[in-house]
Amino acid sequence: MDFDLTAEQQQFRDSVLGFSKKHLAAGARARAHDPAYPWEVAKLMAKQGLLGITLREADGGQGGTLMDAVIAIETVASVCPRSADVVQAGNFGPIRVLGEYGSDFQKKKFLARLLNGEAVISVGMTEPDAGSAVTDLKTSATPDGEGWRINGSKVFTTHSAYAEVILAYVRFGPGVGGIGSVLIDGKSSGLKRGQPSRFMSGEEWAELHFDNVHVPKEMVLLGEGGFKKQIAGFNVERLGNASRSLALGRYAFERAREWALERRQFGKLLAEFQGLQWKFADMKMQLDAAQLLLYRAATNADRGLPSPEETAIAKAYCNRAGFDVANEALQVMGAMGYSQEELVEYCVRRCRGWMIAGGSIEILKNRIAEGVFGRSFSQRG
Ligand SMILES: Cc1cc2nc3c(=O)[nH]c(=O)nc-3n(C[C@H](O)[C@H](O)[C@H](O)COP(=O)(O)OP(=O)(O)OC[C@H]3O[C@@H](n4cnc5c(N)ncnc54)[C@H](O)[C@@H]3O)c2cc1C
Repeated sequence: MDFDLTAEQQQFRDSVLGFSKKHLAAGARARAHDPAYPWEVAKLMAKQGLLGITLREADGGQGGTLMDAVIAIETVASVCPRSADVVQAGNFGPIRVLGEYGSDFQKKKFLARLLNGEAVISVGMTEPDAGSAVTDLKTSATPDGEGWRINGSKVFTTHSAYAEVILAYVRFGPGVGGIGSVLIDGKSSGLKRGQPSRFMSGEEWAELHFDNVHVPKEMVLLGEGGFKKQIAGFNVERLGNASRSLALGRYAFERAREWALERRQFGKLLAEFQGLQWKFADMKMQLDAAQLLLYRAATNADRGLPSPEETAIAKAYCNRAGFDVANEALQVMGAMGYSQEELVEYCVRRCRGWMIAGGSIEILKNRIAEGVFGRSFSQRG
């Protein structure tokens, strides 16, 4: 067992850090408060090889490991928290599911622009009446000649206001076995985007309505019976979500640490008050524990898909640690931490959402408990 990064991983981290300091440090605060997607960052990252890290080289990716992608997201976030979302979009989200399960036709159609940082793909699972109970989704796919007609709506979808393509979970038939997924071109006739709304983080989302949208048969990603495979792919997204939680918690921690070594009250540095030292010790323990759980899940997955149980443990713990640490860091910085002068308040708002998104902490704990007792527990009835 070795808890250090390999020489290659350290080299990769140093090169991502150099890139981030050069291109992302300036403007980090402005980016965090801009609801628009940072396209200029996406294009720079594409040139640097930071999009498609885990995708196969034959598909235009870098052929790297999931651990490389985790290192990239952490390192970018340590300089510009908002830019970590671009690493997520280009590596961990539905792009990875497309890379894993997509046909050559589908990959040729969409991957180039996604990997060039010119477009993003959304995953639409959640519906007004199907949140945690995602298998209750109603969006239907009904046969129509050579393809399918899609009817229904999706809510809270990340990038929904501007995504070029939507990987939509749909129902081909009844029950869990009837669920699969299709790729819906963002310009399809019958696809309507509602008025953009904002999360607490400032990110925009828009309700997606599918009104008899035609999807050719070539655009079915995983047909009937594809749900389990889709969730296996979605575990990668969960690790990206966990990585960002941890990274933003760490960003806030580092800023508060610097602050405690500069700010004086009662004639002493904040770092010299034992009440604050213990806060830092608690934060450090949480960050280190979260890091180990995250690295275990990512390393064990290597270039495959991560274990559901290790992913659930890593995500639930990183989500909690990221939020708690960012929140304590804000407290240590007083009013300055609460002000938009600093990025710490952004880290708190952003980390809060990841405790809900991509499988809430409660739903992940249900999954962990199943492992503990070696059986499943129906949440219904
Ligand atoms: C920032 C953000 C980004 C998101 N991005 C996307 C996206 O890109 N695509 C997408 O499809 N969706 C997205 N979502 C939606 C997200 O997946 C859902 O919010 C999530 O699944 C929870 O559903 P819900 O909000 O309807 O809450 P509900 O399911 O209504 O749950 C409400 C509360 O009850 C708890 N709860 C529910 N059932 C149980 C149970 N059985 N046991 C214990 N507790 C339970 C939940 O944990 C939660 O605290 C995003 C959400 C957020 C906040």
